[in-house]
Amino acid sequence: LRPEIMDLRDMLADLTHLLNRLVGEKVSLILRHDPVLARIRADKRQLEQVLMNLVVNARDAMPQGGEIRIVTENLVLDEPLRRGRAVVAPGRYVSVEVSDEGVGIAPDKLQKVFEPFYSTKRVGEGTGLGLSTAYGIVKQTGGFIFVESAPGQGARFQVLLPAHQDEAPPRSAPEPT
Ligand code: C2E
Repeated sequence: LRPEIMDLRDMLADLTHLLNRLVGEKVSLILRHDPVLARIRADKRQLEQVLMNLVVNARDAMPQGGEIRIVTENLVLDEPLRRGRAVVAPGRYVSVEVSDEGVGIAPDKLQKVFEPFYSTKRVGEGTGLGLSTAYGIVKQTGGFIFVESAPGQGARFQVLLPAHQDEAPPRSAPEPT
């Protein structure tokens, strides 16, 4: 692991060319960034791996084509965030979401997508290692990865990574009342 302090927007800008090639002509990639995104401390190569995995999965979920959206934003948690069995501690995070308009994931499969060797793809099409690898990398970075999906409704993967400390507050605080 070779963590460095980095800006996800720069990382994604460097990766856009490759991602566009990966998704092919039928799929368009839309990036939307928080203009004042906090920086993170992460291994850049590993994080690229995570984003590539998520984008390739999104592409594969849309054989007829469609849109993949990548959205970055700052997230400030004032209290613990509970999602399933996971508890995200209060603090500042950077969120990167990858969503697609594809076939979606059935409820009984949603729990399993991060498990090693689980794959909905036919034998030979996927190794089943993509999302569990992504999960492992995100955990090593001190973050979280969540999925929301329903059949026919696309899928949304959200990666939460701790904002690098000593950062200026990402947004102006609410006006005192
Ligand atoms: P679990 O997957 O059964 O993991 C139980 C505990 O094993 C975790 O407690 C953690 O201490 C450890 N653990 C499991 N996998 C890893 C890993 O890849 N790296 C590291 N460093 N430790 C690991 P924890 O963190 O309190 O999580 C409790 C439960 O919350 C997990 O049960 C899992 O169901 C869920 N969870 C935790 N993090 C995430 C996440 O990023 N995404 C999702 N979808 N669920 C999560």
